[in-house]
Parts: sequence; structure tokens; C-alpha cells
Amino acid sequence: MGKTEKYDHMKLIRQYAGGHKNLITLGRALAALSAVLTLIPYFLLWRIIKVAVDGEDAGQINGYAWGAVALIVGALLLYIAALLCTHITAFRAQANMRSSLMRRILTLPLGIFDEDGTGKIRRIVNDSTAATETYIAHTMPDKTVAAVTPVGLLVLVFAFNWKIGLLCMIPAVIGFCCMMTMMGKGMQEKMKEYQDALDTMSSEATEYVRGVPVVKTFGQTVHSFKRFKDCIDGFGKWATDYTLMLRFPMTGFMTCVNAIFAFIVIAAFVVSKDGVSNADILNIMYYIIITPLITIALTKIAYSGEAEMTLIDALKRVDRIMEIEPLAESSNGQKPKDSGIELKDVSYRYKDATRDAVQKVSISIKPGEHIALVGPSGSGKTTIAELVVRFFDVTEGTIEIGGVNVKEMTSAELMDRISFVFQDSRLIKKSILDNVRLSKPEATETEVMEALQKAQCMDIIEKLPQGIHTVIGEKGTYLSGGEQQRITIARAVLKDAPILILDEATAFADPDNEAKVQAAFEELAKNKTLIMIAHRLSTVVNADKIFVMDDGKCTESGTHEELIKQNGLYAKMFDEYTRSIEWKVGA
Ligand code: ADP
Repeated sequence: MGKTEKYDHMKLIRQYAGGHKNLITLGRALAALSAVLTLIPYFLLWRIIKVAVDGEDAGQINGYAWGAVALIVGALLLYIAALLCTHITAFRAQANMRSSLMRRILTLPLGIFDEDGTGKIRRIVNDSTAATETYIAHTMPDKTVAAVTPVGLLVLVFAFNWKIGLLCMIPAVIGFCCMMTMMGKGMQEKMKEYQDALDTMSSEATEYVRGVPVVKTFGQTVHSFKRFKDCIDGFGKWATDYTLMLRFPMTGFMTCVNAIFAFIVIAAFVVSKDGVSNADILNIMYYIIITPLITIALTKIAYSGEAEMTLIDALKRVDRIMEIEPLAESSNGQKPKDSGIELKDVSYRYKDATRDAVQKVSISIKPGEHIALVGPSGSGKTTIAELVVRFFDVTEGTIEIGGVNVKEMTSAELMDRISFVFQDSRLIKKSILDNVRLSKPEATETEVMEALQKAQCMDIIEKLPQGIHTVIGEKGTYLSGGEQQRITIARAVLKDAPILILDEATAFADPDNEAKVQAAFEELAKNKTLIMIAHRLSTVVNADKIFVMDDGKCTESGTHEELIKQNGLYAKMFDEYTRSIEWKVGA
């Protein structure tokens, strides 16, 4: 075991166990001792059978029996002590792993949470650390027992009658060979595929459930459902292939480990060929008792091998998060002089992408100016907005706020300057008051109320049982997407940052909500530098400047009138948009 790949998982486990690492050694030593103690009663049992078969002084039996009981109790107590040691270490290691992961996650670029999917990260923090905990707590002592037992067993098996011993070992060795074919590098790969498939299903399930309200409200085609179904189908196919691949070695292994008993019957025939002596009866009885131990030992080895592959995969997943570069923090933290924004030849390429999502884009926004980013879906609007907030660092070019490169500002300074309201604004399971206060923890209740009022939220507050103290998501308190967005707008109003980034919603459930969100946006954007990602052209007409994105490049810019005159992509999009409105009105 442990030869699955050159990966020093024990070193990592010791690191995570920290001050408790010596308990691992103690736990394993106790488990080994317990394994040895468990085997000795089998020798005493042999003595008992011998006394009975040979008709020796029956008084000895008592002594052997009590000796065996004492040893078994002793072994049990030692095993419990071993488990105690490994459990303490396991809990400590898991806690350390989770806290180092969480500390790391807090320093990562915010964009990671889009890129890698929150479902995957959640699974690593929860499941991969839990797999490590199980491994240290249970598999490690079991593995030690599984390693010590065969050695003692070999002695017990060959000591009394080597011929029967040899016969018993035939299926054991074949079973062991079958087991070895189920491990190794190829299987570690399979384990990775299995965990990857679980990850994908977890993210897709989350996306699917999140998408249900949108799908139901707008009767959209169920893209997320199709992806979810595809990944379940993919997993089903993987599982079938995997099962088929294992069918021969697994059948071989199970048959062999359970056939050891049958070999004793053969041995009994061989031994009794020329008449049965007392010694033969003794040996056959003894082997009938001892052979199940071989089966148990082999099964334990097989399971601990599998657990080790799961552990290595889990540790590698944790490593992958720990290896992501955190955003470099500026040490001197320069202060921007105003709220103007300047993008100079900015390019950005997503991890593993083959082309730039944004290519050499230059945009200049004066303090207090309202600009809109428009363009087809996938043209790079959201990426630009996310680069300004430093969800990622630009691949090329620079982004300055008030004359200072965003990389030269501390992240606290940057976050103070900018508020953003994205489409999938999420509320946490706390009261409305706490949700709004997230942007300014020291705000008074009156300030929060004012913000809610400006964000057109009063109708929401009025219908809730405990007003702003109602906890969202509890006892069926449900807010629609538009309502949630208005609460997040209130958050931004309260923060009152000089720069605002708005991702306008693509669709609304009802016109009343749409009007309220629009009014809330207008109130919020007053006297602020605004970058709006616009999806519906009706809202951009009044922008100071419109930047048209097409396939990652900024192809046109100017006011609405200027762009209409240019008769380019914007004019075409606006024409289509007006016609669709007329069509809707007509319909
Ligand atoms: P828009 O906001 O205009 O719809 P985006 O900025 O979201 O466009 O996307 C621009 C391009 O970058 C698209 O081709 C999109 O597929 C790609 N992209 C967006 N987000 C990611 C991501 N997290 N990982 C990889 N590619 C991405």
C-alpha cells in the first residue's frame, strides 16, 4: 500500500496535525500491540483443543481460557486507546486544514469564486477535510493492524501443520494479487475522475436549484437542467465503465478470500487419507477457526488501500486551493485623488482560456460621469467591470482610479471607493437590517431605514412580519429576485461609495418591480461615477458616454446620438431593440 504514487501524504498529515503529530505514532504503536495481543489467544485456543482431543488434564483449560479472555480484553482496551489518539489527531488536523483553507480563501481574488464555482470550493472545505479526518481516525489504526496481522498469521498458519498452512495460503496469495491490480496509478486516476464527477454534479445541482425561480418565472429554456442531466448521465457512464473494469479482479478477490475455507476441506481430505490421528483432528479444527482471520486481514488491507487513494485525492484538492496565488497586496497603499477611472490598453485572459476575454480596451471616465457598457452577450462587459473591482488582475495594461493603479491601493481602500450591485445579488440568512448593514457595520437603524427608503424597499419591509428584523430565508420568508436586488441596492446606498458598478438585470418578473429597481438605481447613481453594464438599451440613452463591446474589443464609443449617427453596431442594436419593443406593444 502507499505505493499508489510518489506523494508524501504522511508528511502533509503530520503538518496539519501540528503539535498532535506524535499521537499518530503512539496510536499506531498501540494498534500494532493490540493486533499482536489479538493473535495470541489463537495459540491458547490450539492448546485448549489439544487438551480436549488428547484427553489431557481438563483443569488446564480454565487457565488457557481465562488467559485468552484477559488478552482479548487487553487488546480491546489498547485498540480503544489507539483510536482515542488517532481521533484527537484527526479532529485537530481537520480543524487546522479547514482554518488554513478559509484563511487562504479570504486572500484569493474574488473572481475565483466564479471561475472555480462555489460548489466545488464548498466540497473541498467540507468533504476533502472530512476524508482526511476519517483516514487519520479510522484507516490509520486499521492499516497498522492490517500490516501486523499477516505477519503473526503466517507464524500461526505455518507453525502447526505447514501442509495445511500452505494450502490455505494459495487462495490468500491469489486474492492478494487480485487486490493489487485494483490499486496503483491507474486507479488513483479513476479516483480523481470519480471525485471530479462528484464536484461537477455538486456545482451543477447548485446552479440548477438556483435557476429554478428564473426558469419558472420566465418560462426560459432549461439550460441548467440540460447541463445537470448531462453530468448525471456522464457520471452514470463512468460508474458503469468503472464497475465493468473491476468486475474480474473484484470477483477474483472476493472468491479467493472466501474460498480459503474450502481449501481446509480439501486439506482435511488430504490429511485423513491414511486414517485420522488426534493431531489431525486438532489441526483441522484449529485451521477452521483461524482461516477467517486471513479473510478479515485481506479485506482490511483492501479497504485501507482504497481509503488511502481517497485521501491522496482529497489532499491534492486542498493543495490546489492552497496553491492559488493570492492577490498581491500593496504595502504603501496610495490614495486616489478622485473617482475618475482610466483603463489603458487592458487585456484579460481567463485561466485555461485560449483567447483574451478583453483585448486592449481603453476607457476613460471622468469623476461623476455615467457610462454604459453595451454589446452582445459574451462580449466582455462583465469582465471589464470585474477587473475594475480587482476580482482579477489584468493580464496586460493598467487600471487607474483617481490617478492610482488599482494594484497600488490596499484592497480595503479599493473596496471603500467602489460599490457594486450584480445581477445575482445574494442575501445571507440574517435579518434585513444585518444584510443592509454588511456594507457599513456601524450604521444606525435610522440610517439603514433611510437607505431602504431610497432603494424603494418600503413595500417589502411592510409586508414582512417583523419588518427589518425579519430573517431572510427563515419560516418561508421569500423575496423575489427583484426584491432581493432592491435590498442589495439599499446596501450600496448605505455604503455611499463614490464609484458605482451596476449590472442591470436582464429580465424582470413584473413591471412594478422593474420600475422600482430602476428608480432605486437612479437614486443610487446620483453624484457618483457610474459604470453600468446595460442589457436593455432603453436605460443607456441618457448615459454621458456609451462604450460598445464586441468580441472582447471596444469598437465604438460616444453619446447615444453620436453612435446613432455613426451607424455601426450600436445603431443596429438600437434599431433591433426599438423594433422588438414595437413588436411587443403591437402584440
Ligand atoms: P458579457 O458580460 O458581455 O456577457 P463576459 O465578460 O461575461 O461577457 O464574458 C466575456 C468572455 O469571457 C466570454 O467569452 C465568456 O465565455 C468568457 N468568460 C466569462 N467568465 C469566464 C470564466 N469565469 N472563465 C472563463 N471564461 C469566462
